Amino acid sequence: MHLRCINTDCAATLDLHDRSLSCAICGELLEVVVGPVNTTPAELKYTWLQRRCSYDPRDVSGVWRFREFLPGGYSEIVTMGEGNNPLIEGRKTAHWAGLRNLRFKHLGWNPTACFKDLGMTVGLTEAVFIGAKVVGCASTGNTSGSLAAYAARAGLRAKVYLPAGQVSMNKLAQAMDFGAEIVHVAGSFDRALERILHEANDDLYFLNSINPFRLEGQKTVMFELLEQLSWQAPDYIIVPGGNLGNSSAFGKALAELHATGFLPKLPRLIVVQAGGANPLARMWRSGATELEPVESPETAATAIRIGNPRSWKKALRAVRDTNGFVMDVTDEEIAEAKAMIGRDGIGCEPASATTLAALRKLTEQRKIDRDAVVVAILTGHALKDTDYILKSQLREPALQGVCCA
Ligand SMILES: *Cc1c(COP(=O)(O)O)cnc(C)c1O
Repeated sequence: MHLRCINTDCAATLDLHDRSLSCAICGELLEVVVGPVNTTPAELKYTWLQRRCSYDPRDVSGVWRFREFLPGGYSEIVTMGEGNNPLIEGRKTAHWAGLRNLRFKHLGWNPTACFKDLGMTVGLTEAVFIGAKVVGCASTGNTSGSLAAYAARAGLRAKVYLPAGQVSMNKLAQAMDFGAEIVHVAGSFDRALERILHEANDDLYFLNSINPFRLEGQKTVMFELLEQLSWQAPDYIIVPGGNLGNSSAFGKALAELHATGFLPKLPRLIVVQAGGANPLARMWRSGATELEPVESPETAATAIRIGNPRSWKKALRAVRDTNGFVMDVTDEEIAEAKAMIGRDGIGCEPASATTLAALRKLTEQRKIDRDAVVVAILTGHALKDTDYILKSQLREPALQGVCCA
């Protein structure tokens, strides 16, 4: 295994454990190139299932259970049994969105209550391997909590850069609870990211989603999901897009599984952004070839309030490779969909509800069929942003007048 520049005209390669975050030749992002998998898909699918009966920490982890497709050679892994997130059938939500076959994959049901843990288990394992002492990230909240928790497990210092006053109290509390050093940066997430990129040096191992090891861990969401569906791809997988790391990771997983014969048919990947933080959706609609950042991103779904997503090229490749598309929804649509997910007994944070909001729009506009098999990715737990729930429900109960048959 090694690292490779994602620019196909450059394709420079680096040692797997090189600490560069971008290509020294052309400046593009790097990705892990998975080595040849020497086992047949049937054998490996069987092995992965068998590991569910094991108490070896590598098998208990819903990430490391799929280690044949992950960076390896580690003597110690930093894990808290992340992953293993169920697929939950949508009931009222399916009816509301006009679908007959809707399931949610709830990544909010992870150690720190969001999907970032799936990336951090690999990110921190790599950080320990290369001998880092301090790890850091910029965050809209969730990355900081996850980084802080996994750093604490690994015995490393965590330093997190947050947009001042724009992070949910619950997420800030998590970062504090896990003992992170917090740097409040004036302005948006994009400013916080610029600041840490500016300050990052050899002493600080950088763990935003441009770190290719994070994406390797997040890739396993697709492995687990497809296993849960007996390796029959759904018609659509729909995911919220902020900095676009998750959509990139999903696309990479699907491409690898397809290329190695695990998956005959690819699902179509739909990426949803919030209307006030929608640079990729704009680009998709206009047909532009370069992403134009949104200067002042605005949305109550703070996890995706990002104007200049760093992984847009990887995400766009994922969408194109799977014949998918990109769209956006308004904050009002998000609020209604979020309340409906709550009524289904599932709950999620606002950013996650973009998925259901988008699905309702898509069936109304007859862009997807009622009978389509759809999996919506819920990225964060309802308790990640209780202020949002209390405020919106006290002001105007979001579902007043919406009848749940
Ligand atoms: C991080 C996050 C997102 C955005 O994911 P990206 O990989 O940045 O696109 C969406 N929802 C929640 C809850 C998150 O924590």
